[in-house]
Amino acid sequence: MKATLHPHTPLVICADAIRTCWQSFDNSDNGGEKDRALIDRVGNKFKHASTLEHLVYSFYLEGISRALLQELARHRMASLSVKSTRYTLKELKDEEAFSIDHKERAEKYLVMTGVDVVDEMSIRALENLRTVLVAGISNDRAKYCLPESYKTELTWTINARSLQNFISLRSDKAALWEIRDLANMVYQTLPIDHRYLFENSLKETTHD
Ligand SMILES: Cc1cc2nc3c(=O)[nH]c(=O)nc-3n(C[C@H](O)[C@H](O)[C@H](O)COP(=O)(O)OP(=O)(O)OC[C@H]3O[C@@H](n4cnc5c(N)ncnc54)[C@H](O)[C@@H]3O)c2cc1C
Repeated sequence: MKATLHPHTPLVICADAIRTCWQSFDNSDNGGEKDRALIDRVGNKFKHASTLEHLVYSFYLEGISRALLQELARHRMASLSVKSTRYTLKELKDEEAFSIDHKERAEKYLVMTGVDVVDEMSIRALENLRTVLVAGISNDRAKYCLPESYKTELTWTINARSLQNFISLRSDKAALWEIRDLANMVYQTLPIDHRYLFENSLKETTHD
């Protein structure tokens, strides 16, 4: 799994949005300590959280499973553009056959769980899919036998208010281990001077 942050909104944009309410632009320190404190006070402590929506982050997420993707898609206050299996199964069609001894090669396509029996069944499902493609079945139909572990990638755009909600729900130990890893990774990928806005949302990230 990999998360890459694209250029993001500077803190001063959010601080200036807040200052719009009182027309106190003269107090701005261009995203410095005063602005950081203002954002935390108004956005978090005063619960004027809509001001946090002015901070927007776009991530490129790679090597996540379709199981994780469907959970990520439940977060409606975010935008997703996902690699289309409908068009991209061709690379699998050109592969040699997979057996359970080909775990390393299969990892190009599958998220492994670390549970041998599950990972072996996943590789079998991958080989089933490859067989269907080689038989000339169209991607549009073949994709119905994709395993949940099949890897995908996407551009994910989310504002700070929604990201706080995401990190809070998905870094919790009640969440699926893979999305917990993602929540933690997304937090670590944030610019250092923005992380303070999310510190209180972050829960423990221990694996089951
Ligand atoms: C541990 C865990 C287990 C889960 N298990 C299941 C499960 O078994 N089955 C299942 O279906 N889902 C499950 N979910 C998904 C969960 O129900 C939410 O769909 C998901 O976490 C997105 O949360 P959200 O609605 O807060 O986020 P978003 O969709 O991003 O919404 C953000 C916020 O906007 C507001 N909002 C958004 N839409 C509305 C609306 N229509 N009306 C009012 N306010 C709105 C709410 O304040 C919401 O918190 C699980 C989630 C977790 C964390």
